Amino acid sequence: MSHDPNCLFCRIAAGEIPAQKVYEDDELIAFKDIRPAAPVHLLIIPRQHITGLGDVTAEHEALLGRMMTLAPRLAVEQGATNGFRTVINTGPDGGQEVYHLHLHVMGGPRPWKHG
Ligand code: 5GP
Ligand code: ZN
Repeated sequence: MSHDPNCLFCRIAAGEIPAQKVYEDDELIAFKDIRPAAPVHLLIIPRQHITGLGDVTAEHEALLGRMMTLAPRLAVEQGATNGFRTVINTGPDGGQEVYHLHLHVMGGPRPWKHG
């Protein structure tokens, strides 16, 4: 499984940098965003280093499906019981800051800033 030693989220996945993890299995990790834009703001990432949605191929379909399937479960577990948003920022014009694929899950009572 690819690991980029210079990638922040690879280092979080490897346990080299602390994060408030809320879920992990052999393929995925989810943790709280360090600058939450909503009362519940989680990031779901694959352990495998994938730069972003622009780099996925057919071989990643099951992995992407698992990321999406995990979102509602974790949203509810973390208290977003009345709905949530899912966002994947891709590339410079997409506002991507960390170049390791991640799914934002944002929920909790409104109003809150759309990030
Ligand atoms: P992007 O703009 O790339 O879609 O989002 C990157 C997200 O990662 C941002 O919401 C930012 O707050 C979050 N983030 C950046 N560095 C860290 C970190 O070291 N730990 C955690 N938990 N989140 C981070
Ligand atoms: Zn990475």
